Amino acid sequence: MNNKIADQLQSALQTIASAAQLADRSANEVKLLAVSKTKPATMIEEAWQAGQRAFGENYVQEGLQKIIDLKHLNGLEWHLIGPLQSNKCKPVAEQFDWVQSLDRSKIAKRLNDNRPSGKGPLQVCIQVNISGEASKSGIELSEVENLAKEIADMPNLVLRGLMAIPSNTDDDKALAAEFQQLYDLYKHLQHQYDDVDTLSMGMSSDSELAIKHGSTMVRIGTAIFGKRDKPATD
Ligand SMILES: *Cc1c(COP(=O)(O)O)cnc(C)c1O
Repeated sequence: MNNKIADQLQSALQTIASAAQLADRSANEVKLLAVSKTKPATMIEEAWQAGQRAFGENYVQEGLQKIIDLKHLNGLEWHLIGPLQSNKCKPVAEQFDWVQSLDRSKIAKRLNDNRPSGKGPLQVCIQVNISGEASKSGIELSEVENLAKEIADMPNLVLRGLMAIPSNTDDDKALAAEFQQLYDLYKHLQHQYDDVDTLSMGMSSDSELAIKHGSTMVRIGTAIFGKRDKPATD
């Protein structure tokens, strides 16, 4: 088991490196977020032993439990990448390092109000519903600027960029068009806000295409930890 996760982590990093090279980018421009939802804390610890530090969780309760269970590991960075309801904002603001699934000002305000001063600001990405599917989380492209402006005025949040889950399709052209729209908006935000450096797009099945289109963070679950028993909610 130990070697399996280490090996799969290694090949995920290799995939990133070669996709970056193909796109004339440097591999260290693209960060790997290991998505550990539904997987036990012991697997996260194995990945940590193999050098991985940033982990993504979708479900608040599950993530909080793992944060407690893995307190003994140094340097872990916890990202919430799943839907966040307002009644869960307090523990999330207290325990997570990043929230990538921020999609409304009410949630931003609650996170800002509940971030403990000793922890430093919470790092956030605005989640964009790029596919336009009603079932998907995130806000419309056209609403991003307004939310960004509100976040910029919140002292306990730092706007780092955008996150998106593209359409569930094998059509590379359609995917590429979505990635490109996100990239353009990301560049636009980068000109306005100093701390914007993160374009979180690309998962196990489309990470190479996302990197080609400027992703700076790929969120990889299955390719590192194996198939999930429970289906993802997104
Ligand atoms: C589950 C999930 C991932 C990882 O997906 P894989 O296909 O397992 O790599 C990435 N991002 C989000 C938001 C997810 O919910």
